[in-house]
Amino acid sequence: MSDSVDSWILKKVSFDIFFSALKSEDYKVLSPQVEDGAVTWFEASEADDLKQGFSDQQNIGSYRLNQTESDVWFSIVHGAQSLKSLTFKPRQATVKIIKTEAGISFQAEQPKAEKIAVIGARACDVAALQIQDRVFLGGAYQDEYFKANRESLLIIAVNCTHAHETCFCASMNTGPKVKAGFDIALTELKDAFIVEAGSMAGKRIVEALNLTVAPKDMSKQADRLIEHCAVSQKKRMPQQNLPQALYEKQHSEHWDDVATRCLSCANCTMVCPTCFCHAIEETPDMARQTSERVRVWDSCFNPEHGYIHGKNMRPTTADRYRMWMTHKLGSWIDQFDSSGCTGCGRCTTWCPAGIDLVEEAIAVLGEDAMEKKA
Ligand code: SF4
Ligand code: SF4
Repeated sequence: MSDSVDSWILKKVSFDIFFSALKSEDYKVLSPQVEDGAVTWFEASEADDLKQGFSDQQNIGSYRLNQTESDVWFSIVHGAQSLKSLTFKPRQATVKIIKTEAGISFQAEQPKAEKIAVIGARACDVAALQIQDRVFLGGAYQDEYFKANRESLLIIAVNCTHAHETCFCASMNTGPKVKAGFDIALTELKDAFIVEAGSMAGKRIVEALNLTVAPKDMSKQADRLIEHCAVSQKKRMPQQNLPQALYEKQHSEHWDDVATRCLSCANCTMVCPTCFCHAIEETPDMARQTSERVRVWDSCFNPEHGYIHGKNMRPTTADRYRMWMTHKLGSWIDQFDSSGCTGCGRCTTWCPAGIDLVEEAIAVLGEDAMEKKA
């Protein structure tokens, strides 16, 4: 592998050498697969496991899987699950509390993680993981559970060549081509993948494959497919002055309008690849001799989440939607130096009320713009 070269060709018929290289480094390989009508991360052991035989169709409040005879392997863009569940687990035991004759003992759950290589991560989700890195690892205290999972994860991204009605990663500058935070990136062509390495670990694995350099025309074809995906995205998140407009609209009637539609069901936060709210549960055994303290995903849409010192800070759905959107698109930037949104579109796809984040942002800005004109 020459230093001046940065992309290679991996023919689909030879893809199993990639699995062999990953297994030789003791990685368990996961890829998005359909099981019981849902897309989730499943173990893959050979190339045939990657041929999904389904494509997804996403729209506002709607997700459909269609069986397909197409020979495209990564025809599903993404399901409800992002990379979040692999690093920030939905349930994480933290402490076991045991009643003893001498009193009570506390045993901390030690972080442990297996080596996982995930094939099929999309650019929006890789960008989301980088945001979560800042949340969980960037401050004075690091989350040891997240850290262990993160350090054991090898990310094999697949650049998007088609987008859905709800995707807007191009306007968030997070996709459809993966930019950073990946180990290996693949772009699917008809009979082969263009392969790029994004880290030392990725480079080591690519070198072991002994691939040939990608001819310029194939690399250009891959770039054109990705570019077409970017320009085909109909949704664009407005960027101008959004945080300030949201702060100024704290008391807007717009939030009451959203609340007439929002069910406060928390779907948007559960599927969001960057949301990190959590709660702590204590689960005693039936004999009340031990108890397990578990961190579980929570949501700012859950009424209990706003309780503090006997008072609920966000008693209404309007309060909760305002909090979510203002944090995601506004104050997140103050906290973590980036938006909390990567444009994956899941919150819009999976909202049973069909509430579209981009449309709501445009509504807030539109109201602001109109007031400034008057
Ligand atoms: S915006 Fe939609 S998904 Fe989110 S809580 Fe409201 S109804 Fe549920
Ligand atoms: S806010 Fe919505 S579009 Fe943005 S990252 Fe979260 S789920 Fe995706």
